[in-house]
Amino acid sequence: RSESAPETLTDGFHLLIDALKLNGVETIYNVPGIPITDLGRYAQAQGLRVLSFRHEQHAGYAAAAAGFLTKKPGICMTVSAPGFLNGLTALAHATTNCWPMILISGSSEREIVDLQRGDYEEMDQLAIARPHAKAAYRILHAEDIGLGVARAIRAALTGRPGGVYLDVPGALLGQVMDAAEGQKSLIEVVDPNPKSVPAPEAIDRAVDVLKSAKKPLIIIGKGAAYAQCDDTVKELVETLGFPYLPMSMAKGLLPDTHPQCASAARSLVLAESDCVFLIGARLNWLLQHGQGKSWGEKGTKKFVQIDIEPTEMDSNQKIAAPLIGDIESCSKALLKAMGSDWKKPDESWTGKVREKVEGNVAKMAPRLKNNNSPMDYQGSLGVLKDLIAENPDVVLVNEGANALDQARSIIDIFKPRKRLDVGTWGIMGIGMGSAVAAAVETGNQVLAVEGDSAFGFCGMEIETICRYDLPVCIVIMNNNGIYRGDGTNWSGGEDPATTVFVKGSRYDKMMEAFGGVGVHVDNPDALREAVKAAFASRKPTLINAVIAEDAGRESGNIGNLNPSSVVAQA
Ligand code: ADP
Ligand code: MG
Repeated sequence: RSESAPETLTDGFHLLIDALKLNGVETIYNVPGIPITDLGRYAQAQGLRVLSFRHEQHAGYAAAAAGFLTKKPGICMTVSAPGFLNGLTALAHATTNCWPMILISGSSEREIVDLQRGDYEEMDQLAIARPHAKAAYRILHAEDIGLGVARAIRAALTGRPGGVYLDVPGALLGQVMDAAEGQKSLIEVVDPNPKSVPAPEAIDRAVDVLKSAKKPLIIIGKGAAYAQCDDTVKELVETLGFPYLPMSMAKGLLPDTHPQCASAARSLVLAESDCVFLIGARLNWLLQHGQGKSWGEKGTKKFVQIDIEPTEMDSNQKIAAPLIGDIESCSKALLKAMGSDWKKPDESWTGKVREKVEGNVAKMAPRLKNNNSPMDYQGSLGVLKDLIAENPDVVLVNEGANALDQARSIIDIFKPRKRLDVGTWGIMGIGMGSAVAAAVETGNQVLAVEGDSAFGFCGMEIETICRYDLPVCIVIMNNNGIYRGDGTNWSGGEDPATTVFVKGSRYDKMMEAFGGVGVHVDNPDALREAVKAAFASRKPTLINAVIAEDAGRESGNIGNLNPSSVVAQA
């Protein structure tokens, strides 16, 4: 506030910050620049936590992850045009994952943009954002800031959560209005996460279907983790007594070591079950759309599904009993309708699943104990599995191809929302942004298990991690390349199209350059000691973990999604 400005005036900067604060926003994931540089400064001056990143995409991924972790919209703030486009990737990612996020972007002056007169960073951002977001709004007048923020918050949270774009032209921020009028124009959104209660007949229908199942299965998705009704979901799963599969970010909602967890018998339960109950999980590509070889004989399954989004039903398979509502309301109503004498499925089914789980876990166990150097995925991840079991509050961030697929199946998670990964798109580059958000939002230690290629999409943010001195330990599974480090150039040259990186790259030295701890390890024992030290010190740490060049598979577990050339193979 300048000396000469009368106390009776406010402006766009302050109204926007007041509106966010009134609605419980505490943190902004930001990259400063024209026209939002001062907005970040004022926000900090008004008590918000403003974290500035090196690139908007990672500020955006942090906001998206914050939305998932907190059930409140994560806020990302970017500059116009290029900064906006960089942030938009993350906004689309949040929308795709059904996470609440608001991308606030500065933009250029409407009068110039709309006549395409060529402004500094000219772009019609609102039009571009709209198809990538759940909703998109622009605020033109200071007196509408309260309305704009309220609409953004409600759109991000209510129903199926998603990403919202809020366009803030530079001129808006400087607009002045009467301070008392300004305060009156702000809106505190009432009940932005309203209950959505299922119809009683829908509950009865679902109970009938679940009751008639002989070989039932539950699939728990990240919608259930997001819903933050952990005890209710646990009670429902345990009362039903069905085997369950957690999707990757639902791991830990019940501990992966739970006797009903069927992760290690995935093929068996998908193929043989006769009834599948989806709780906050979509039958998308991650579940092969509920069809094909892995799902057993066609037409042998009945589906029951809880989802807050009505149009999710029948999007891939016929849903015999749709439960449209929020997971907590649906689960409570089901429990009530099931009564106190619910009959659990026959031991012939649950026992068979359990036996398969125990057999597969026992088969894997010795491989996780190998001390090979250079390391393979089993030996290295076996170490991390032990350390997470000893430190179940650590938030695991995970991306890569093999580094992702192997870590997801090897590392057990014990508590809800302790795993953040590539999500519905299976994208690379979420690692460092997610790690920052996990550390900031939970205060817990973070362990980021990164493929060396995945790390390349976000690596510069280790400076951000060091600057804010966050308790993040990054383990780079370094096999010298995208997928593997032993690719060849099919024309015989030196430079394979599937990139082989500089051999023996020392990512640990990058960390040292920013004042963090860098460690270079090539065997599981050394990896264990390095991660233990990182957890004990809570210092920003990067461990360059040398993995054999030929470890891993092209595209990890999803190599089947690569089209193959008929001509070349003929
Ligand atoms: P996963 O990838 O783990 O299977 P998805 O992202 O595919 O999970 O599915 C999550 C689903 O959860 C989405 O269809 C979303 O609409 C739904 N969802 C999110 N929050 C809630 C909630 N509070 N209650 C009910 N459904 C929810
Ligand atoms: Mg690699």
